Amino acid sequence: MSSGGGQTTQHDHAPECIYGCDRVSSGCKHCPTCRLRELCGLDGVVERRPMSYWLKLLDPYRVKPVSYVLWCPTSDPCHQRARQWWKDLVEIMVARPDVLFCILTKRLENASQLIEQFGPLPNLWLGTSFENQQSLERRARELFAIPAAGYILSGQPLLSPVDMTPYLGNKKLYHVLAGREIGDNARPCNNEWLRSIETQCSQYPLEFSITHYTDANGKAVTVQKKNQTGSNNPRYPGYNPNYRNMPTIGEMMGLQRFLQLPAGYRPPKPEALTKLRARMRVVLPTN
Ligand code: SF4
Repeated sequence: MSSGGGQTTQHDHAPECIYGCDRVSSGCKHCPTCRLRELCGLDGVVERRPMSYWLKLLDPYRVKPVSYVLWCPTSDPCHQRARQWWKDLVEIMVARPDVLFCILTKRLENASQLIEQFGPLPNLWLGTSFENQQSLERRARELFAIPAAGYILSGQPLLSPVDMTPYLGNKKLYHVLAGREIGDNARPCNNEWLRSIETQCSQYPLEFSITHYTDANGKAVTVQKKNQTGSNNPRYPGYNPNYRNMPTIGEMMGLQRFLQLPAGYRPPKPEALTKLRARMRVVLPTN
């Protein structure tokens, strides 16, 4: 799920195997996914692309152990039109118990059905975003009612100050994000609102990340971009996900403790990989 004003950052990989969404709240007003697809006349269409779907879907199969993977940032994997592909996502997550996956969604009733259908996977965290106090209260309550392995709350795009203290005590809330809206016509966000969330979170043993803030000229600044050199990432200086010898974001966040794996564990080959290979095989004609 896009955050309405820009993608959620701080993850190792974000496979975009499903595209498209439609707006569900005021936080979605300037959603880049919707704006782009409106231009193409595809607003509200949720789709997968024939070949890239399999390649993107299998991305998490290739990642390093203890990676932090965010599913489909330019869509909502819990959109009602995406449910036909849930089985594929679940298959990869089951095949990689050494990777921590996250689904961000505003469609929590559908997320609840996903968990009901496939069970609470030990390596899947569910998250939702909020833009103001009212949406935080409603969505946090709905999120915590779903028996997921872990929860994420994402305050982006943040449109007003919020009091998160009633929700921060949840033992399964492991990650809180906050950030302003980005892009053309981005709505203003006072850095004090972000700082206030940081202060509230500092009282609890959870990970907190700011994704975008406002500079002195009122412009949005992105704290961390995927695949950048990392030198301007104040949280993890020097981190570059392209260097093989660098730890994953998941390792740096200490996600190992959520992935209890037997010694010498090797991930099995998922059925989707076999399907992809079969599709890519060139059958030569007989002479
Ligand atoms: S739910 Fe997310 S992806 Fe869908 S319209 Fe809203 S911000 Fe965009």
